[in-house]
Amino acid sequence: MDAGSRFLQQMTMSRDGWFLGWVGCQTGGQTGGLFMSIKEKDIKKLWGLSAGRCSRSGCDELCIRFLTDDPTVIGEMAHVIAQSPQGPRGTPEGGEDTYENLILLCPTHHKEIDKAPAGTFPVETLLDWKKRHEAEVNEAFRSPVYSSRREMATQLKRLLIENETAWKTYGPDSSAAQLNPLSNMHLIWTVRKLDILVPNNRRIISTIQRNSSLFDVPGYRAACLFVEHAEGFETNCYERTEGVPKFPKVFQEVIDAYTAAE
Ligand SMILES: [Zn+2]
Repeated sequence: MDAGSRFLQQMTMSRDGWFLGWVGCQTGGQTGGLFMSIKEKDIKKLWGLSAGRCSRSGCDELCIRFLTDDPTVIGEMAHVIAQSPQGPRGTPEGGEDTYENLILLCPTHHKEIDKAPAGTFPVETLLDWKKRHEAEVNEAFRSPVYSSRREMATQLKRLLIENETAWKTYGPDSSAAQLNPLSNMHLIWTVRKLDILVPNNRRIISTIQRNSSLFDVPGYRAACLFVEHAEGFETNCYERTEGVPKFPKVFQEVIDAYTAAE
């Protein structure tokens, strides 16, 4: 089974309660004869574009909890228009299980919008939250223009450290994944790639593009290799892609040298 189908299977295996968060208003993936049939690409798009955070205006809560050793996905993919005509914001045709009709929310706000009297949270309000939240996430990727090479490199180094830490803690080679290959670590790694590595890589690319004059020629060459790697990595997160260039160690070496220089 490839990584993608395992991800989806875990999403729907919610009877044990572990993934109930993902199917939110459903029980065991089914309610009143309706099945959640959200495609993997829609799940990933929703998670990636919202950076894994609740889209309710003013909330921004991260949709994974790390309070225990066993991280838990708490985010809920709520329907903007309910599948059932009688459900929240329902229409005679019923809403679809697509990215366009879903919004990522924390459990508190999913309950708030679905339990409120009809008309309190109309379709337009939810779509407006989602649009604004995604725009804010996108804006956060934009790098400042730095005044010195060292200042830029220090910021790049921080982002690379965050990526490396996530890789070591949750990645396929992490001790948790090695010890128990059937644990939830696979799902956690799939979402961490979308809410840590992909956003950080975009920040790094923006930093390189907006501060290209601070690189020397060998450094810029290494930075361009990183951009190729990061773009392939992101594509591969959404859709399995062959031949993604590996993380270029030479880029890490350049950044280490830039931060160490007087
Ligand atoms: Zn929330």
